Amino acid sequence: MTEKLLLLPGDGIGVEIMAEVEKLIVHLNKTGKTDFSFESRLVGGAAYDAEGAPVSDETMEVAMDADAVIFGAVGGAQWENIGYENRPEAGLLRLRKDMKLFANLRPAICYPALADASSLKLELVEGLDILIVRELTGGVYFGEPKTITELGTTENGENQKRAIDTQVYETYEIDRICRVAFDMARTRGKLVHSADKRNVMKSGVLWDEVAHEVAADFPDVKFEHILADNCAMQLVRNPKQFDVIVTDNLFGDILSDAAAMLTGSLGMLPSASLGAPDPVTGKRKALYEPVHGSAPDIAGKGIANPIAMIASFAMALRYSFNMVELADQIEGAIAKTLDAGLRSGDIMQAGCTAVSTSEMGDAIIARLEG
Ligand code: NAD
Repeated sequence: MTEKLLLLPGDGIGVEIMAEVEKLIVHLNKTGKTDFSFESRLVGGAAYDAEGAPVSDETMEVAMDADAVIFGAVGGAQWENIGYENRPEAGLLRLRKDMKLFANLRPAICYPALADASSLKLELVEGLDILIVRELTGGVYFGEPKTITELGTTENGENQKRAIDTQVYETYEIDRICRVAFDMARTRGKLVHSADKRNVMKSGVLWDEVAHEVAADFPDVKFEHILADNCAMQLVRNPKQFDVIVTDNLFGDILSDAAAMLTGSLGMLPSASLGAPDPVTGKRKALYEPVHGSAPDIAGKGIANPIAMIASFAMALRYSFNMVELADQIEGAIAKTLDAGLRSGDIMQAGCTAVSTSEMGDAIIARLEG
């Protein structure tokens, strides 16, 4: 069956790195490994200039109908002073909101050739492959009340205010994110750690209760509870003990950044955002994108690192299309390309060969087969 992809390159280097994914899709289709149909549309500043909105209604329709959306990056100085609802980022936010993408997946993979560029010791990160599953639409970032109130002036003339954020989670929100984590673990190392603060937070108590209930439905996956603060510590002490970590929006924001940076450059980091499975087809809405932005400082020069973008596409193969072997092959080809000493500017090391965006893309495709 032909699978439908929507490619949204966006702005700046988004366009250059998406060209490498397009090349890869054409190659995979030609060699009979996949049967993707794909369509490319505008998003971000480019869409605002040409279509009057950072994501048009027509593009939204195509996105809702696609089996996966592959997103580049948006933004640039020329769109900084337009209204909030027309800013390039608003296009990405609408996609996330309308597609109801509640699960954010951030892998931290350390390619052997780059292990000595990490701030941790080589033996701690070499071969690292962990996945943080962060709840993306609930918790303290969205909970009500969310206020700052004036309390008046104290006796010694100080103006006092009170700020309130509210951490709220309901059973269904915890249940569905935990199910994503366990589903993912089944395609990987079959181990899930659930990180919360059940020792001091009621939301943590419920989180842990629901996580245990979900774990019972996945007897083939090992389940461990961990306090979020200990998780942060363990990530820098011994990150290879983890496979999948599932956690809430706030802890996930922090833990995923910490985990990702164990592996070095921004140009290497992929991500995925997933929605709920369709009740009829069982397929999840999904958007795959590099963690980095549109890098206006290097845009148009053909020197951007396409690896985060290509690795995001590999995540689509793994998580939207269950093409686990092919995803492994692409990640393997990235590793071999790095082993061969090819480097874009952001990951350049002494004794290595500098390559352009398209040379890096070609080199990865060339290493796919062998
Ligand atoms: P950025 O991630 O675009 O760039 C930060 C630094 O990393 C720059 O020096 C850049 O050259 C470098 N870099 C990033 N990706 C690279 C790659 N693939 N290869 C080589 N070098 C790379 O962040 P920024 O400079 O803070 O933001 C630039 C624009 O991107 C802004 O408009 C911002 O709003 C937007 N942004 C968009 C997204 C997104 O689309 N999801 C995310 C972050 C920032």
